[in-house]
Amino acid sequence: MKGALWEGASVLAQGSRAMSQGWEPSLGAWALAGMESEGSVAHESDVVGGGVKRDASPHDLGGDSDMNPELEELELLGQNKQLVQLNPRKKKKVVKKWRNEWAETYKWAYVAVYEGIHRIFCSVCKEYGRKHRRNPYGNEGSRNMQMSALEEHNNSLLHKEALRLQLASKDQGMGLIDRPVYIKALISKSAEFILAAVLHRDPHEGEFIQAVQEVVHSLDPVLSKIPQFVHVLERLVEPERVVIFRVPWVDDKGEAHVNRGFRVQFNQALGPYKGGLRFHPCVNLSVMKFLAFEQTLKNSLSSLNVGGAKGGSDFNPKGKSENEIMRFCQSFMEELYRHIGPNQDTPSGDIGVGPREIGYLFGQYRRLTSQYETVLSGKGVPWGGFNLRPEATGFGLVYYAKEVLADLDKDLRGLRCVVSGAGKVAMHALEKLIAFSAIPVTISDSRGYLYDGEGFDYGKLALLRDIKLHNKSLRDYTKSYTKAKYYDDSKPWSVKCDIAFPCATQNELNHVDAMALVNAGCQIVFEGANMPCTTEAMEIFRKSKILVGPCKAANVGGVAVAGYEVVQNNSRIQWTPEEVDMKLQEIMKDIYHKSIKAANDYGFSKGNPQALVHGANIAGFLRVAQAMLEQGCV
Ligand code: NAP
Repeated sequence: MKGALWEGASVLAQGSRAMSQGWEPSLGAWALAGMESEGSVAHESDVVGGGVKRDASPHDLGGDSDMNPELEELELLGQNKQLVQLNPRKKKKVVKKWRNEWAETYKWAYVAVYEGIHRIFCSVCKEYGRKHRRNPYGNEGSRNMQMSALEEHNNSLLHKEALRLQLASKDQGMGLIDRPVYIKALISKSAEFILAAVLHRDPHEGEFIQAVQEVVHSLDPVLSKIPQFVHVLERLVEPERVVIFRVPWVDDKGEAHVNRGFRVQFNQALGPYKGGLRFHPCVNLSVMKFLAFEQTLKNSLSSLNVGGAKGGSDFNPKGKSENEIMRFCQSFMEELYRHIGPNQDTPSGDIGVGPREIGYLFGQYRRLTSQYETVLSGKGVPWGGFNLRPEATGFGLVYYAKEVLADLDKDLRGLRCVVSGAGKVAMHALEKLIAFSAIPVTISDSRGYLYDGEGFDYGKLALLRDIKLHNKSLRDYTKSYTKAKYYDDSKPWSVKCDIAFPCATQNELNHVDAMALVNAGCQIVFEGANMPCTTEAMEIFRKSKILVGPCKAANVGGVAVAGYEVVQNNSRIQWTPEEVDMKLQEIMKDIYHKSIKAANDYGFSKGNPQALVHGANIAGFLRVAQAMLEQGCV
């Protein structure tokens, strides 16, 4: 089967602009035929220019969609015979256009604000109301065609569901969302039922709905084969416990502030809860729930006996003094300590929480409980921390990529890699990419991105680390390496590359970015961050046959190693970095093969570019679902 995944890419038309400009990518230049985007404009020159601006507005996906059978039937019945006779070409064109767009109608709905209230819309008509009176496609085609299109639209499963949800959510005060939430059409009744329940319960939790729907879609064949799992999944998508608490703290000037703290203990069926803490202004209940849900499946996939959780606060550590961060961590732990413990819940770090914060949190926990126990992972190595823990997620990501490529008879040597983020995951991924002679050419942060066409090396990496350590701009790098370019307020996805590693944050890569990546020649995306690609971006990758290595598998390294930190602390014997590194490589290999096997077992062939996504979801689900089934309805 070697090379099968790769072959999928050959469906794409060769001869991208990159190729025509003489650039020779190491894996060959593939571009998506007929798919142009705002992002693709960035390729006008051979030197990378501007990148993809943040927050581009959404537009229709276009591209080749599945044919809508009902419309096809209408056409076969010759319902618009008159039009065919008068202008057969025009009719064909209109019907084809409708067909393509219609497939999307059945796939998407979205939540957005209408007259100050959040409502659920179906995405094509974009109209709020009981029945749509206007043809979503305007005045094209005959009156008959317009009417049947409208009727079909109003009767579509998706539109009815959108209507039902509109009505159900009418009187609920919904929380604020900052972007539309896209909902794919559902495949089986049971999957539909589960997703509808989540939508109904929390229609404003965009990130959580997004994470659940991706998993539900992968699990469709599992639910058909093992019907007992339908009720298990129904329970699994609801967290076991959510703790929300006040975190008051005093700044250096003596002024009081208050932030909100969270711990979402999602599922304990496989062992004590485990999952990171995030300190970032993006933190809210939806983000916490999606991360905890993903963590549950990820931990299950890692084969560790740990459950899934996530926590954190909307506190922004940026610009805070060392003392302010310490006081905040102490206040946060003042409440959190009641809910954690070695056999209950063992948090670790995430965005904004590194060894420094873990140190302050642990100090306060120890003070409050008088216990020196393994309750937090990611500690400093001299006082019980695990060698290579900080590196594990980034290193593991590259080990996973290496494993996928090996199965395609390829390796990382000479491949141009676009990396986003400049934090723990991105920097360590960069380090390992350099070690494997890949050519990482970008790095980014919340302010912009840096491009070095010659690729980063260890010396350049040391400079980047120093820049980030002192909270300086990535632009400073160009003072030492003048050929490099820095782009303010832009993302790196239009840079020519073979592989992309999004390592910054959730939904950092939208459909515009996805099209830019496709046109930049990218063939594989390995997700370092949690859920970095939006649903629309994933749809574009699917249509473009871009292989996706999902975060649930690709960034497991950190939590897997954190699990062994507990083993180390209990035995009080320190593992060497070499031992940890060997273990990490084994884990990533195992995760890849487990995912591929699960995908194959449930009908997603290895040649399917989404096989790794479905496989990781299925393998992660099966283990936790079996444990839940055996533990009864609790
Ligand atoms: P981190 O050290 O705090 O770094 C995050 C990086 O992403 C920073 O460079 C930050 O920019 C950038 N960033 C944040 N929000 C951004 C935005 N909206 N647009 C552009 N850039 C943005 O965090 P991390 O630990 O590397 O985590 C990164 C991702 O990996 C997260 O999704 C996390 O959940 C996931 N993850 C982490 C681990 C782990 O062990 N740490 C494990 C599994 C998954 P600034 O430097 O300007 O702030």
